[in-house]
Amino acid sequence: MSIFEKILRKEIPANIIYEDDYAIAFPDIAPQAPIHILVVPKHPAKNFSDTAQWSPEARAGYMQSINQVIAQLNLTDGYRLVFNTGEDGGQTVDYLHLHILAGKAMSWPPF
Ligand code: 5GP
Repeated sequence: MSIFEKILRKEIPANIIYEDDYAIAFPDIAPQAPIHILVVPKHPAKNFSDTAQWSPEARAGYMQSINQVIAQLNLTDGYRLVFNTGEDGGQTVDYLHLHILAGKAMSWPPF
């Protein structure tokens, strides 16, 4: 089982800043920006591609959770959303999670 499933089950502690029926959000343990929050869905998926199999309700619910977390963070100067996916995408935890990065001006491209 992945570390994020254990956090979802409350078997491993995390500073959960947001929770609803569809997702939880907590700070990344190794932040890459002044604000670095992970949004982890309760509906299981290994990566973003798996969400193609989700029901419309599960998809809309996760999207709404993401919107709520962003609103709660009050990111008036902008932010970046990242789904690292698979080996080339740099995914290291095998359970779907969205990175919300904010609090500094970021560059592009990201590599
Ligand atoms: P990925 O590279 O898969 O897109 O992102 C995984 C992220 O999870 C990394 O940014 C890493 O710092 C974070 N992470 C790994 N283990 C833990 C943990 O136990 N707790 C928290 N809060 N973040 C973790």
